[in-house]
Amino acid sequence: LTAVALTGVALTGCSSRADTGASDTAIKKGDTVGVALPAKTSQNWVLAKASFQKALTAAGFKADVQYAAANNTVSDQQQQIQSMITKGDKVIIIAAQDGSQLGTQAAQAKKAGDTVIAWDRNLLNTKNVDYYVAFNNYKVGQLQARALLDGMKAKKASGPYNIEIFAGANTDANATVFYNGAMSVLKPLIDKGELKVPSGQTSFQQVQTDNWDPKNSQTRMSNIITKTYSNGTKLDGVLSPNDTLGRSIITAVQSAGLPVPIVTGQDSETASIPLIMNGTQYSTIYKNTDEEAKAAVALITDLANGKKKPSGVDYNDKTNAGNGSKTVPYKALTPILVTKENAVEAYSNNPTLEALAKAGSK
Ligand code: BGC
Repeated sequence: LTAVALTGVALTGCSSRADTGASDTAIKKGDTVGVALPAKTSQNWVLAKASFQKALTAAGFKADVQYAAANNTVSDQQQQIQSMITKGDKVIIIAAQDGSQLGTQAAQAKKAGDTVIAWDRNLLNTKNVDYYVAFNNYKVGQLQARALLDGMKAKKASGPYNIEIFAGANTDANATVFYNGAMSVLKPLIDKGELKVPSGQTSFQQVQTDNWDPKNSQTRMSNIITKTYSNGTKLDGVLSPNDTLGRSIITAVQSAGLPVPIVTGQDSETASIPLIMNGTQYSTIYKNTDEEAKAAVALITDLANGKKKPSGVDYNDKTNAGNGSKTVPYKALTPILVTKENAVEAYSNNPTLEALAKAGSK
């Protein structure tokens, strides 16, 4: 018992570096930074490569950015990280394909003296991660749930409302955090009977979507419609964790010939903005990928400048950065909720998205 308590004290008191015994090699400008990205399950990942290349080059680092292939993703990413370490990359930035399957690689990176940064998605159950840089994912879930309620209220002043719940992949640490944030808003209303979930499927495992694959969410939505909504029960809203899945849910509802309910989303994908502007999808979330990459690069720059405590890092955010082994020092960015009301303004720093919003508002 004493030993356990002491370890706890030692850990909370120790520096931000992973507690491995190995001391990190100092990072210098000119070093190569490895960035291991997951499969491109949504547009943000497609954008991430160029965002990192731009931000790293501008800050004086070399960029080594790689994606996990669409198949064999976990072993692919494990090998890529392995080879980044062998090649001598000094910083390894990881957006995990599967947050629980990279403990060995993170340990090897620390052993080599590298700095390990989890990016967008946290690494789970390992002490060998130095920092986590991401948008506040719990807040994303809360914003999605509040948008769902607002959207349903705007159509029908009072409940009870019938909703269905979707979550992301159970291999992505973010999916649970989005879900927990959303359920912090929805669960009390479900308990009071103001919200009903006619399918009865509410637990994370019941509502998660393997691989964030829209085929899976479309099939699940279609099955729920057949079982639960073909008798005329009205579906008022669907909590969708991102735009890719949101569009698949909309497709399932439309194919069944039902009116489209309030559907949430995330990522501000170019395929969803026209749907938001014409009222088919109710909301999305804006997480600027350039900013997220820049935040990681600013952190590395702080370290290269000898700062022991890089700026903007929170050491105590268990909700977003607790990884099962430690609370990872966390640099958070703020997500923005977007509906057709604020789209033009929200995207004013992004010409592509702003143009789509403007085109849709005419
Ligand atoms: C990202 C989301 C994305 C999802 C699916 C998550 O980890 O944070 O932005 O929609 O992965 O690719």
